[in-house]
Amino acid sequence: MKLYEKTAHELHDLLKSKEISATELTQNLFERIDEKEKEIGAYLEITKSQALETAKRVDEKISRGEEIAPLEGIPCAIKDNICTKGVKTTCASKILENFVPPYDATVMTKLNSQNAVMLGKVNMDEFAMGGSTENSAYHTTKNPHNLERVPGGSSGGSAAAVAAGEAIFTLGSDTGGSIRQPASYCGVVGFKPTYGRISRYGLVAFASSLDQIGPLTKDVTDCATVLNAICGLDEMDSTSTAAAVPDFTKSLVNDVKGLKIGLPKEYFVDGMDNEVADAVKSATKLFEKLGAEIVEISLPHTGFAISTYYLIAPAEAATNLERYDGVSYGARVDGVDVVEMMTNTRTEKFGEEVKRRIMIGNYALSAGYYDAYYLKALKVRTLIQKDFTDAFKNVDVVLTPTAPTVAFKIGEMANDPLKMYLQDICTVPVNLAGLPGISVPCGFNKENLPIGLQLIGKPLDEETIIRAAFTFEQNRD
Ligand code: GLN
Repeated sequence: MKLYEKTAHELHDLLKSKEISATELTQNLFERIDEKEKEIGAYLEITKSQALETAKRVDEKISRGEEIAPLEGIPCAIKDNICTKGVKTTCASKILENFVPPYDATVMTKLNSQNAVMLGKVNMDEFAMGGSTENSAYHTTKNPHNLERVPGGSSGGSAAAVAAGEAIFTLGSDTGGSIRQPASYCGVVGFKPTYGRISRYGLVAFASSLDQIGPLTKDVTDCATVLNAICGLDEMDSTSTAAAVPDFTKSLVNDVKGLKIGLPKEYFVDGMDNEVADAVKSATKLFEKLGAEIVEISLPHTGFAISTYYLIAPAEAATNLERYDGVSYGARVDGVDVVEMMTNTRTEKFGEEVKRRIMIGNYALSAGYYDAYYLKALKVRTLIQKDFTDAFKNVDVVLTPTAPTVAFKIGEMANDPLKMYLQDICTVPVNLAGLPGISVPCGFNKENLPIGLQLIGKPLDEETIIRAAFTFEQNRD
Protein backbone atom coordinates (compact mmCIF):
# COMPACT_ATOMS: atom_id res chain seq x y z
CA MET A 1 0.00 0.00 0.00
CA LYS A 2 1.26 3.49 -0.78
CA LEU A 3 0.72 4.78 2.74
CA TYR A 4 2.76 7.92 2.01
CA GLU A 5 -0.03 9.09 -0.30
CA LYS A 6 -2.60 9.20 2.47
CA THR A 7 -3.62 12.01 4.79
CA ALA A 8 -3.10 12.01 8.54
CA HIS A 9 -6.81 11.49 9.20
CA GLU A 10 -6.97 8.48 6.86
CA LEU A 11 -3.86 6.99 8.46
CA HIS A 12 -5.25 7.60 11.94
CA ASP A 13 -8.27 5.45 11.04
CA LEU A 14 -6.04 2.71 9.60
CA LEU A 15 -3.91 2.71 12.77
CA LYS A 16 -6.94 2.62 15.02
CA SER A 17 -8.52 -0.29 13.17
CA LYS A 18 -5.13 -2.05 13.26
CA GLU A 19 -5.05 -2.40 9.48
CA ILE A 20 -1.55 -0.96 9.60
CA SER A 21 1.04 -0.52 12.32
CA ALA A 22 2.91 2.69 13.07
CA THR A 23 6.19 0.88 12.39
CA GLU A 24 5.02 -0.26 8.98
CA LEU A 25 3.85 3.27 8.23
CA THR A 26 7.13 4.83 9.31
CA GLN A 27 9.10 2.33 7.25
CA ASN A 28 6.91 3.06 4.24
CA LEU A 29 7.80 6.76 4.57
CA PHE A 30 11.52 6.03 4.84
CA GLU A 31 11.30 3.91 1.69
CA ARG A 32 9.63 6.81 -0.05
CA ILE A 33 12.33 9.17 1.22
CA ASP A 34 15.03 6.80 -0.12
CA GLU A 35 13.28 6.80 -3.47
CA LYS A 36 12.64 10.56 -3.78
CA GLU A 37 15.19 12.38 -1.71
CA LYS A 38 18.01 12.31 -4.28
CA GLU A 39 15.95 14.36 -6.69
CA ILE A 40 13.98 16.54 -4.22
CA GLY A 41 16.42 17.30 -1.40
CA ALA A 42 13.76 18.23 1.13
CA TYR A 43 15.66 17.04 4.19
CA LEU A 44 18.73 18.31 6.03
CA GLU A 45 18.75 15.57 8.64
CA ILE A 46 16.97 12.24 8.95
CA THR A 47 16.22 10.82 12.40
CA LYS A 48 15.45 7.23 11.53
CA SER A 49 16.19 5.37 14.76
CA GLN A 50 14.35 7.94 16.85
CA ALA A 51 11.36 7.73 14.49
CA LEU A 52 11.23 3.94 14.63
CA GLU A 53 11.42 4.04 18.45
CA THR A 54 8.45 6.41 18.62
CA ALA A 55 6.52 4.23 16.17
CA LYS A 56 7.23 1.19 18.31
CA ARG A 57 5.87 2.99 21.39
CA VAL A 58 2.69 3.79 19.48
CA ASP A 59 2.31 0.17 18.35
CA GLU A 60 2.70 -1.03 21.93
CA LYS A 61 0.01 1.41 23.01
CA ILE A 62 -2.32 0.20 20.27
CA SER A 63 -1.72 -3.44 21.13
CA ARG A 64 -2.55 -2.69 24.78
CA GLY A 65 -5.89 -1.44 23.48
CA GLU A 66 -5.25 2.20 24.46
CA GLU A 67 -6.80 5.17 22.66
CA ILE A 68 -4.48 7.04 20.31
CA ALA A 69 -4.41 10.79 19.69
CA PRO A 70 -5.06 12.12 16.15
CA LEU A 71 -1.35 12.57 15.36
CA GLU A 72 -0.13 9.54 17.22
CA GLY A 73 2.15 7.52 14.94
CA ILE A 74 1.79 10.02 12.07
CA PRO A 75 5.10 10.69 10.25
CA CYS A 76 6.05 14.36 10.08
CA ALA A 77 9.03 16.58 9.38
CA ILE A 78 10.06 19.82 11.05
CA LYS A 79 11.56 22.97 9.58
CA ASP A 80 15.15 23.28 10.71
CA ASN A 81 14.62 26.53 12.62
CA ILE A 82 12.46 24.78 15.23
CA CYS A 83 14.53 23.50 18.15
CA THR A 84 14.54 19.75 18.60
CA LYS A 85 16.24 18.43 21.71
CA GLY A 86 19.29 16.36 20.84
CA VAL A 87 18.75 16.81 17.09
CA LYS A 88 20.77 19.34 15.10
CA THR A 89 18.92 22.58 14.32
CA THR A 90 20.93 24.51 11.75
CA CYS A 91 18.50 27.08 10.31
CA ALA A 92 20.17 25.99 7.05
CA SER A 93 23.11 28.18 8.13
CA LYS A 94 26.79 27.41 8.49
CA ILE A 95 26.83 29.48 11.64
CA LEU A 96 24.64 26.87 13.37
CA GLU A 97 26.06 23.85 11.55
CA ASN A 98 26.85 22.08 14.83
CA PHE A 99 24.07 23.43 17.02
CA VAL A 100 22.27 20.72 18.96
CA PRO A 101 19.54 22.31 21.10
CA PRO A 102 19.40 21.15 24.72
CA TYR A 103 15.62 21.70 24.71
CA ASP A 104 12.51 21.25 22.58
CA ALA A 105 10.46 24.09 21.12
CA THR A 106 6.99 24.16 22.68
CA VAL A 107 5.44 22.90 19.43
CA MET A 108 7.77 19.89 19.61
CA THR A 109 6.83 19.19 23.22
CA LYS A 110 3.22 19.24 22.07
CA LEU A 111 3.79 16.96 19.06
CA ASN A 112 5.90 14.60 21.16
CA SER A 113 3.16 14.37 23.78
CA GLN A 114 0.97 12.93 20.98
CA ASN A 115 3.79 10.63 19.81
CA ALA A 116 3.84 12.13 16.33
CA VAL A 117 6.74 10.46 14.51
CA MET A 118 9.40 12.97 13.48
CA LEU A 119 11.23 11.67 10.40
CA GLY A 120 13.75 14.49 10.31
CA LYS A 121 14.49 18.19 9.85
CA VAL A 122 13.72 19.91 6.56
CA ASN A 123 15.46 22.48 4.41
CA MET A 124 14.76 26.21 4.30
CA ASP A 125 16.28 29.50 3.29
CA GLU A 126 19.02 30.42 5.75
CA PHE A 127 17.37 31.85 8.89
CA ALA A 128 14.06 31.80 6.95
CA MET A 129 15.18 34.70 4.76
CA GLY A 130 14.04 34.08 1.23
CA GLY A 131 11.32 32.60 -0.89
CA SER A 132 12.93 29.73 -2.77
CA THR A 133 15.26 27.68 -0.47
CA GLU A 134 18.08 28.84 -2.74
CA ASN A 135 19.46 30.69 0.29
CA SER A 136 20.03 27.44 2.19
CA ALA A 137 23.74 27.08 2.98
CA TYR A 138 23.43 23.37 2.17
CA HIS A 139 21.43 22.75 -0.99
CA THR A 140 18.41 23.95 -2.96
CA THR A 141 15.25 21.87 -2.61
CA LYS A 142 13.43 21.05 -5.87
CA ASN A 143 9.74 21.44 -6.55
CA PRO A 144 8.19 17.93 -6.76
CA HIS A 145 5.91 19.13 -9.60
CA ASN A 146 8.86 20.19 -11.73
CA LEU A 147 12.46 19.62 -10.73
CA GLU A 148 13.69 22.72 -12.53
CA ARG A 149 11.54 24.92 -10.33
CA VAL A 150 11.92 26.15 -6.76
CA PRO A 151 9.57 24.78 -4.11
CA GLY A 152 9.15 28.30 -2.74
CA GLY A 153 10.40 29.36 0.62
CA SER A 154 11.48 29.85 3.15
CA SER A 155 9.70 26.64 4.27
CA GLY A 156 10.49 25.01 0.90
CA GLY A 157 11.63 21.73 2.46
CA SER A 158 8.42 21.55 4.49
CA ALA A 159 6.22 22.06 1.40
CA ALA A 160 8.22 19.79 -0.91
CA ALA A 161 8.28 16.98 1.67
CA VAL A 162 4.47 16.96 1.89
CA ALA A 163 4.01 17.28 -1.87
CA ALA A 164 6.48 14.45 -2.62
CA GLY A 165 5.01 12.09 -0.03
CA GLU A 166 8.18 12.33 2.05
CA ALA A 167 6.17 13.31 5.14
CA ILE A 168 2.46 13.26 5.94
CA PHE A 169 2.57 16.75 7.43
CA THR A 170 5.24 19.26 8.33
CA LEU A 171 5.74 22.37 10.40
CA GLY A 172 7.05 25.56 8.86
CA SER A 173 7.40 29.15 9.98
CA ASP A 174 5.94 32.22 8.35
CA THR A 175 7.35 35.73 8.81
CA GLY A 176 6.21 37.20 5.50
CA GLY A 177 4.67 34.26 3.67
CA SER A 178 7.07 31.41 4.23
CA ILE A 179 4.39 28.81 4.88
CA ARG A 180 1.72 30.02 2.45
CA GLN A 181 3.92 30.77 -0.58
CA PRO A 182 5.72 27.37 -0.68
CA ALA A 183 2.38 25.66 0.01
CA SER A 184 1.03 27.47 -3.05
CA TYR A 185 4.04 26.56 -5.24
CA CYS A 186 3.91 22.89 -4.19
CA GLY A 187 0.14 22.40 -4.27
CA VAL A 188 -0.40 21.73 -0.56
CA VAL A 189 -2.29 23.46 2.26
CA GLY A 190 -0.34 25.93 4.41
CA PHE A 191 -1.59 27.85 7.41
CA LYS A 192 -0.24 30.86 9.27
CA PRO A 193 -2.31 31.42 12.40
CA THR A 194 -2.97 34.72 14.16
CA TYR A 195 0.18 36.15 15.73
CA GLY A 196 0.30 34.68 19.24
CA ARG A 197 -1.82 31.58 18.56
CA ILE A 198 1.19 29.28 18.59
CA SER A 199 4.13 29.62 20.93
CA ARG A 200 7.35 30.81 19.34
CA TYR A 201 9.40 29.37 22.21
CA GLY A 202 12.18 27.39 20.55
CA LEU A 203 11.62 28.88 17.10
CA VAL A 204 14.92 30.49 16.13
CA ALA A 205 14.01 34.17 15.86
CA PHE A 206 14.05 35.96 12.51
CA ALA A 207 11.67 38.92 13.01
CA SER A 208 9.96 38.37 16.34
CA SER A 209 6.94 40.62 15.79
CA LEU A 210 6.07 38.74 12.57
CA ASP A 211 7.19 35.10 13.06
CA GLN A 212 4.57 32.38 13.48
CA ILE A 213 4.83 28.60 13.28
CA GLY A 214 2.17 26.71 11.33
CA PRO A 215 1.33 23.45 9.54
CA LEU A 216 1.73 22.32 5.92
CA THR A 217 -0.61 19.47 5.10
CA LYS A 218 -2.28 17.56 2.28
CA ASP A 219 -5.75 18.81 3.09
CA VAL A 220 -7.68 21.23 5.27
CA THR A 221 -8.79 18.49 7.67
CA ASP A 222 -5.18 17.64 8.53
CA CYS A 223 -4.47 21.34 8.89
CA ALA A 224 -7.19 21.68 11.54
CA THR A 225 -5.93 18.56 13.30
CA VAL A 226 -2.35 19.83 13.51
CA LEU A 227 -3.55 23.26 14.68
CA ASN A 228 -5.46 21.55 17.49
CA ALA A 229 -2.23 19.91 18.56
CA ILE A 230 0.06 22.94 18.56
CA CYS A 231 -1.98 26.07 19.42
CA GLY A 232 -2.32 27.59 22.86
CA LEU A 233 -0.97 29.87 25.54
CA ASP A 234 2.59 29.18 26.66
CA GLU A 235 4.23 30.84 29.64
CA MET A 236 7.57 30.56 27.82
CA ASP A 237 6.40 33.01 25.13
CA SER A 238 5.10 36.32 26.45
CA THR A 239 3.49 37.09 23.07
CA SER A 240 1.41 33.92 23.03
CA THR A 241 -2.26 34.66 23.51
CA ALA A 242 -4.50 33.53 26.35
CA ALA A 243 -7.49 33.39 23.98
CA ALA A 244 -9.33 30.08 24.25
CA VAL A 245 -8.34 27.54 21.60
CA PRO A 246 -11.39 26.14 19.82
CA ASP A 247 -11.56 22.63 18.39
CA PHE A 248 -10.63 23.59 14.83
CA THR A 249 -12.00 20.33 13.41
CA LYS A 250 -15.48 21.61 14.32
CA SER A 251 -15.01 24.17 11.53
CA LEU A 252 -14.68 21.46 8.88
CA VAL A 253 -18.16 22.30 7.65
CA ASN A 254 -19.09 22.32 3.99
CA ASP A 255 -21.08 25.55 3.97
CA VAL A 256 -20.32 29.14 3.00
CA LYS A 257 -23.88 30.37 2.56
CA GLY A 258 -24.11 34.01 3.52
CA LEU A 259 -20.36 34.32 4.05
CA LYS A 260 -19.11 37.73 2.95
CA ILE A 261 -15.85 37.45 1.04
CA GLY A 262 -13.85 40.58 0.23
CA LEU A 263 -11.76 40.80 -2.93
CA PRO A 264 -9.16 43.55 -2.50
CA LYS A 265 -8.54 45.23 -5.83
CA GLU A 266 -4.94 46.12 -4.85
CA TYR A 267 -3.93 42.44 -4.83
CA PHE A 268 -4.42 41.87 -8.51
CA VAL A 269 -1.16 43.65 -9.26
CA ASP A 270 0.81 44.33 -12.42
CA GLY A 271 3.13 41.47 -13.11
CA MET A 272 0.68 38.90 -11.85
CA ASP A 273 0.43 35.79 -14.03
CA ASN A 274 -2.81 35.78 -15.98
CA GLU A 275 -3.28 32.13 -15.21
CA VAL A 276 -2.99 32.85 -11.48
CA ALA A 277 -5.51 35.68 -11.70
CA ASP A 278 -7.87 33.45 -13.74
CA ALA A 279 -7.64 30.54 -11.29
CA VAL A 280 -8.40 32.84 -8.38
CA LYS A 281 -11.30 34.38 -10.28
CA SER A 282 -12.85 30.98 -10.99
CA ALA A 283 -12.42 30.09 -7.31
CA THR A 284 -14.31 33.28 -6.49
CA LYS A 285 -17.10 32.22 -8.85
CA LEU A 286 -17.30 28.86 -7.13
CA PHE A 287 -17.67 30.54 -3.74
CA GLU A 288 -20.43 32.64 -5.19
CA LYS A 289 -22.16 29.57 -6.58
CA LEU A 290 -21.97 27.99 -3.15
CA GLY A 291 -23.83 30.90 -1.63
CA ALA A 292 -21.10 33.28 -0.50
CA GLU A 293 -21.40 36.98 -1.21
CA ILE A 294 -18.45 38.51 -3.04
CA VAL A 295 -17.68 42.13 -2.24
CA GLU A 296 -15.01 44.22 -3.91
CA ILE A 297 -12.97 45.97 -1.23
CA SER A 298 -9.97 48.25 -1.02
CA LEU A 299 -6.91 47.86 1.21
CA PRO A 300 -5.38 51.18 0.20
CA HIS A 301 -1.94 50.87 1.84
CA THR A 302 -1.10 47.51 0.24
CA GLY A 303 1.38 49.20 -2.08
CA PHE A 304 3.58 50.12 0.91
CA ALA A 305 3.61 46.62 2.40
CA ILE A 306 6.81 45.38 0.75
CA SER A 307 8.89 48.42 1.73
CA THR A 308 7.44 48.34 5.25
CA TYR A 309 8.16 44.66 5.68
CA TYR A 310 11.67 44.93 4.25
CA LEU A 311 12.52 47.57 6.87
CA ILE A 312 10.86 46.00 9.90
CA ALA A 313 11.88 42.39 9.24
CA PRO A 314 15.58 43.21 8.62
CA ALA A 315 15.65 45.59 11.62
CA GLU A 316 14.41 42.85 13.91
CA ALA A 317 16.66 40.30 12.20
CA ALA A 318 19.75 42.47 12.68
CA THR A 319 18.97 42.62 16.38
CA ASN A 320 18.11 38.93 16.73
CA LEU A 321 21.20 37.79 14.84
CA GLU A 322 23.62 39.77 16.99
CA ARG A 323 23.84 36.74 19.24
CA TYR A 324 25.80 34.72 16.66
CA ASP A 325 29.16 36.10 17.66
CA GLY A 326 31.34 32.99 17.76
CA VAL A 327 31.04 32.92 21.56
CA SER A 328 27.56 31.89 22.64
CA TYR A 329 26.35 29.64 19.84
CA GLY A 330 27.49 27.62 16.91
CA ALA A 331 30.56 28.06 14.82
CA ARG A 332 33.65 30.20 15.47
CA VAL A 333 36.33 31.29 13.04
CA ASP A 334 39.48 32.32 14.91
CA GLY A 335 41.22 35.68 14.69
CA VAL A 336 44.10 37.44 16.44
CA ASP A 337 41.77 39.18 18.87
CA VAL A 338 38.10 39.12 19.81
CA VAL A 339 37.04 41.70 17.22
CA GLU A 340 38.74 39.83 14.42
CA MET A 341 37.32 36.53 15.66
CA MET A 342 33.76 37.90 15.63
CA THR A 343 34.26 39.56 12.28
CA ASN A 344 35.68 36.42 10.72
CA THR A 345 32.92 34.27 12.19
CA ARG A 346 30.11 36.45 10.91
CA THR A 347 31.69 37.16 7.53
CA GLU A 348 32.45 33.53 6.76
CA LYS A 349 29.51 31.76 8.35
CA PHE A 350 26.55 33.94 7.35
CA GLY A 351 25.35 33.73 3.75
CA GLU A 352 24.89 36.69 1.40
CA GLU A 353 21.18 37.25 1.98
CA VAL A 354 21.53 37.12 5.76
CA LYS A 355 24.35 39.66 5.62
CA ARG A 356 22.30 41.88 3.33
CA ARG A 357 19.42 41.88 5.82
CA ILE A 358 21.72 42.59 8.77
CA MET A 359 23.13 45.58 6.91
CA ILE A 360 19.71 46.92 5.87
CA GLY A 361 18.42 46.42 9.41
CA ASN A 362 21.32 48.12 11.14
CA TYR A 363 21.14 50.98 8.66
CA ALA A 364 17.41 51.47 9.29
CA LEU A 365 17.98 51.42 13.06
CA SER A 366 21.04 53.68 13.12
CA ALA A 367 20.77 57.05 14.89
CA GLY A 368 20.58 59.14 11.73
CA TYR A 369 18.02 57.01 9.92
CA TYR A 370 15.82 55.57 12.66
CA ASP A 371 13.10 58.22 12.30
CA ALA A 372 13.17 58.26 8.51
CA TYR A 373 13.04 54.49 8.03
CA TYR A 374 12.28 52.27 11.00
CA LEU A 375 9.87 54.58 12.81
CA LYS A 376 8.16 55.50 9.55
CA ALA A 377 7.76 51.81 8.73
CA LEU A 378 6.12 51.19 12.10
CA LYS A 379 3.62 53.94 11.37
CA VAL A 380 2.79 52.53 7.95
CA ARG A 381 2.42 49.10 9.54
CA THR A 382 -0.36 50.57 11.69
CA LEU A 383 -2.06 51.95 8.55
CA ILE A 384 -1.89 48.52 6.92
CA GLN A 385 -3.45 46.98 10.03
CA LYS A 386 -6.16 49.63 9.95
CA ASP A 387 -6.94 48.80 6.30
CA PHE A 388 -7.83 45.28 7.41
CA THR A 389 -9.76 46.45 10.49
CA ASP A 390 -11.86 48.67 8.26
CA ALA A 391 -12.39 45.96 5.65
CA PHE A 392 -13.45 43.43 8.26
CA LYS A 393 -16.30 45.71 9.30
CA ASN A 394 -17.97 44.66 6.04
CA VAL A 395 -16.62 41.23 5.18
CA ASP A 396 -15.89 37.97 7.03
CA VAL A 397 -12.84 36.88 5.05
CA VAL A 398 -10.55 38.37 2.43
CA LEU A 399 -9.65 36.34 -0.66
CA THR A 400 -6.47 36.89 -2.70
CA PRO A 401 -3.93 34.91 -4.69
CA THR A 402 -1.22 33.52 -2.40
CA ALA A 403 1.55 34.63 -4.75
CA PRO A 404 1.55 36.59 -8.00
CA THR A 405 3.14 33.73 -9.98
CA VAL A 406 3.59 30.00 -9.98
CA ALA A 407 6.90 28.46 -8.87
CA PHE A 408 9.73 30.13 -10.79
CA LYS A 409 12.84 28.47 -12.22
CA ILE A 410 15.79 27.73 -9.98
CA GLY A 411 18.30 30.55 -10.49
CA GLU A 412 15.78 32.83 -12.19
CA MET A 413 15.74 35.39 -9.39
CA ALA A 414 18.86 34.43 -7.49
CA ASN A 415 20.75 37.56 -8.53
CA ASP A 416 17.86 39.96 -8.19
CA PRO A 417 16.85 40.21 -4.53
CA LEU A 418 14.39 43.02 -5.19
CA LYS A 419 12.46 40.94 -7.72
CA MET A 420 12.38 38.13 -5.19
CA TYR A 421 11.08 40.51 -2.48
CA LEU A 422 8.22 41.60 -4.77
CA GLN A 423 6.97 38.00 -4.83
CA ASP A 424 5.86 38.52 -1.22
CA ILE A 425 3.28 41.19 -2.04
CA CYS A 426 0.20 39.06 -1.25
CA THR A 427 1.51 37.51 1.95
CA VAL A 428 3.48 40.14 3.93
CA PRO A 429 0.48 42.40 4.72
CA VAL A 430 -1.05 39.48 6.65
CA ASN A 431 2.03 39.21 8.89
CA LEU A 432 2.27 42.97 9.33
CA ALA A 433 -1.34 42.92 10.55
CA GLY A 434 -0.88 39.73 12.62
CA LEU A 435 -3.83 38.00 10.95
CA PRO A 436 -4.50 34.32 10.19
CA GLY A 437 -4.07 33.23 6.57
CA ILE A 438 -4.36 29.93 4.72
CA SER A 439 -3.21 28.91 1.27
CA VAL A 440 -5.28 26.22 -0.46
CA PRO A 441 -4.57 24.75 -3.91
CA CYS A 442 -6.95 26.22 -6.49
CA GLY A 443 -5.71 24.88 -9.81
CA PHE A 444 -2.77 24.40 -12.16
CA ASN A 445 -1.36 26.46 -14.99
CA LYS A 446 -0.80 25.09 -18.50
CA GLU A 447 2.54 23.61 -17.44
CA ASN A 448 0.88 21.76 -14.56
CA LEU A 449 2.33 23.99 -11.86
CA PRO A 450 0.08 24.48 -8.82
CA ILE A 451 -1.67 27.76 -8.03
CA GLY A 452 -2.70 28.78 -4.52
CA LEU A 453 -5.58 30.77 -3.14
CA GLN A 454 -5.19 32.76 0.08
CA LEU A 455 -7.97 33.31 2.60
CA ILE A 456 -7.31 35.89 5.30
CA GLY A 457 -9.33 36.01 8.52
CA LYS A 458 -10.05 38.41 11.36
CA PRO A 459 -7.71 38.24 14.34
CA LEU A 460 -8.20 34.90 16.17
CA ASP A 461 -10.86 33.86 13.69
CA GLU A 462 -9.06 30.88 12.22
CA GLU A 463 -12.37 29.03 12.27
CA THR A 464 -14.01 31.00 9.46
CA ILE A 465 -11.11 30.61 7.05
CA ILE A 466 -10.90 26.89 7.85
CA ARG A 467 -14.60 26.56 7.05
CA ALA A 468 -14.23 28.52 3.81
CA ALA A 469 -11.11 26.59 2.78
CA PHE A 470 -12.74 23.25 3.61
CA THR A 471 -15.85 24.12 1.61
CA PHE A 472 -13.71 25.14 -1.33
CA GLU A 473 -11.69 21.93 -1.12
CA GLN A 474 -14.84 19.78 -1.04
CA ASN A 475 -16.39 21.46 -4.05
CA ARG A 476 -13.50 22.34 -6.36
CA ASP A 477 -13.02 20.47 -9.58
N1 GLN B 1 10.14 35.79 1.57
C1 GLN B 1 10.05 36.56 2.78
C2 GLN B 1 11.43 36.98 3.21
O1 GLN B 1 12.33 36.68 2.53
C3 GLN B 1 9.33 35.81 3.84
C4 GLN B 1 10.17 34.94 4.66
C5 GLN B 1 9.45 34.27 5.77
O2 GLN B 1 8.23 34.32 5.87
N2 GLN B 1 10.23 33.67 6.65
O3 GLN B 1 11.62 37.61 4.21
